[in-house]
Amino acid sequence: MKITSDIHTHTFLSACAARESYPQDFMRVCKSFGIKTLGFSDHLWDKAVPGSSNWYAPQDVEHVLQLKELLKGPECQAQCGGLKILFGCETEFLGGKHVALSREAMSVFDYVLIPPDHFHMKGFTRPADLNDPQGIKELMIRRFMEVMDLGMATSVVHPFHAMGWTPEMPRLIQSMITDNEYIECFTAAKQANCAIEINSCAVKPIDGNDGVGDDKFSPEYVRMMTLARETGCTFSIGTDAHNPKSIENAGGYGRFDRFTDVCGITKILFND
Ligand SMILES: [Zn+2]
Ligand SMILES: [Zn+2]
Repeated sequence: MKITSDIHTHTFLSACAARESYPQDFMRVCKSFGIKTLGFSDHLWDKAVPGSSNWYAPQDVEHVLQLKELLKGPECQAQCGGLKILFGCETEFLGGKHVALSREAMSVFDYVLIPPDHFHMKGFTRPADLNDPQGIKELMIRRFMEVMDLGMATSVVHPFHAMGWTPEMPRLIQSMITDNEYIECFTAAKQANCAIEINSCAVKPIDGNDGVGDDKFSPEYVRMMTLARETGCTFSIGTDAHNPKSIENAGGYGRFDRFTDVCGITKILFND
């Protein structure tokens, strides 16, 4: 499917993004690759919610709202023609009802991305001593279901991607999740009206092939997303770019086009 939307991007307002990650450059680059709807989703911890980390604390609602002013400025105004711009956020989730966005602040955003498993934040988003694959898998499934119970997420981002261990860990954990476990999760997502994100990490060629048209995708990601499609889920597209240059370096959205074709996916949020 031709991808025309990307709602997961980080500007310089995200502490982990490139300092030159400017919204106007996202606009220019995304338009050149056929994107029609571009959403910005900087990292966010609403200060109305207790339990922030030192890293998250400065990235509050007021901080990410600065983007709205930038969008009105001359640099963005010169680039935004032909694009629909959405103002979103990627908040944080610590399990249970502990989401880093208050219901009051939700209305500020056009959409809300929730990551169920930012497990690289050891001792914060997950227990510091959690290292066994079975335990990681179980926590991952539980967090996914808890995100659905919140009923706040427009889309659940980079689902079932175990970040924070070895590069092999995501694939190992995914191989341990049964079809039925996925179907249970995706049924809950469908009921919660929450989209499943196809992130750059899902469409990354596994043979290192950067060529056009013959990517070998991870069989585990193809299984996961095909099951989500068969369950009736809607999807969202997210490069999760922390610098517009990374979209250029990946050659645009061709991998997303081909991956969605392989999985038979056509229901994509904000896509023409
Ligand atoms: Zn994330
Ligand atoms: Zn992100």
